[in-house]
Amino acid sequence: MSKTAKIYQFDSLDYGKILLTIKPHAVNLFTQPDNDLWTFDLEGRPIGMFIDGVNYRRTLSNHYFQKDRICIDGEDYRNVNPIGLGIAEGLIVNAHKLLSDIRPKLPLEIHPMIDRILSQNMPVLEKNGQAFNDIYLPISILPPDQYMAMVIQITEGCNYNRCTFCNFYRDRPFKIKTADEIEVHIDRVLDFLGEGIKLRKSIFLADANALVMPQNRLMGALEIIQKKIGSTREIFSFIDVFTGIRKSSVDFSNLADMGLKRVYLGIESGDPELLELLHKPQFTDDIIDLAENLKRGGIQLGVIFLTGAGGWDYHAQHMNNSQALLEKLPLGKGDIIYLSEFYETNPEYETVLKKQGILQPNRQDIRKMTLDFKSQIQEISSKGVIISTYDIQQFLY
Ligand code: SF4
Repeated sequence: MSKTAKIYQFDSLDYGKILLTIKPHAVNLFTQPDNDLWTFDLEGRPIGMFIDGVNYRRTLSNHYFQKDRICIDGEDYRNVNPIGLGIAEGLIVNAHKLLSDIRPKLPLEIHPMIDRILSQNMPVLEKNGQAFNDIYLPISILPPDQYMAMVIQITEGCNYNRCTFCNFYRDRPFKIKTADEIEVHIDRVLDFLGEGIKLRKSIFLADANALVMPQNRLMGALEIIQKKIGSTREIFSFIDVFTGIRKSSVDFSNLADMGLKRVYLGIESGDPELLELLHKPQFTDDIIDLAENLKRGGIQLGVIFLTGAGGWDYHAQHMNNSQALLEKLPLGKGDIIYLSEFYETNPEYETVLKKQGILQPNRQDIRKMTLDFKSQIQEISSKGVIISTYDIQQFLY
């Protein structure tokens, strides 16, 4: 596959202008004047579609979603809703028909790519989705800048798994994979992705806190990754305070040498009372120690705060104590502060709120709290830190 995009343009009575772009990592099919767009990976699997002004996404498990945005009081709210396989199939069939029509006019060297796309009909895609489900436990969440990462599940679940608000890993026991299991897992991932790997620019170590692995085993896992996938992709992972503080700056420096670029830490709040409510008992001093060790080891940091947690009752102390904590963290260029708008994912949280007589704020209230939070910490961006919102409902893999 060429390193530059190849563009082919046709006029059609049925569709108007048709533009086919073969990129080094994906294929785009675009029609004008409708502005419909289909994107495929290099195995020919659809990734996304923009049809009649509506955005659609396919996950690797072959589920399809429609993404909408609504505007309320000048604020954008995004929604992600599943659509049926029948509707998705109709959208894909239209693209296949179009490609079949233009295929005879395309140079012969493009035919294998077109044929690969045409071979990915719904029964094949369903089988492919099943293969994905056999390789992975569900990928519950990734940081927004890692949505297109190649996920390698060197561990499964969360070794803590008791935060009241979090439901991501309650469906599985915590497990650290052996070196043999990691080798087999990576082989299966590579086989599954095939040429689609070219879309995956980074590697994400899953699940919730893969770095909990004892250091020697973690280094071994990174060696396996280097051997099997190569060392060109940067590596990312979540980290938690409880286990992160057990690693030294030398440990982090060794991990950085093996490609670990940035870790993401769910701080949630700098307010101890709110952390207690969330059942996440982490100490400010530990967070600072961990951040300093990471920095000394040459690893970038993404920190996540849960805006709207604890409702209006906790909002001011949540914001003020989080800002105070942020000012003590050695953040700079390459680091990210994510403000994650609170979505209730676990009924345990609602029970705790009810016990304390706290009202769960609605989505608009949570947005107001997020904007408040963002403006309060805005000054930190002068250090080169990116401040961004994180909408977990947007996550699809
Ligand atoms: S928030 Fe993180 S540490 Fe807490 S249960 Fe969820 S994954 Fe585990």
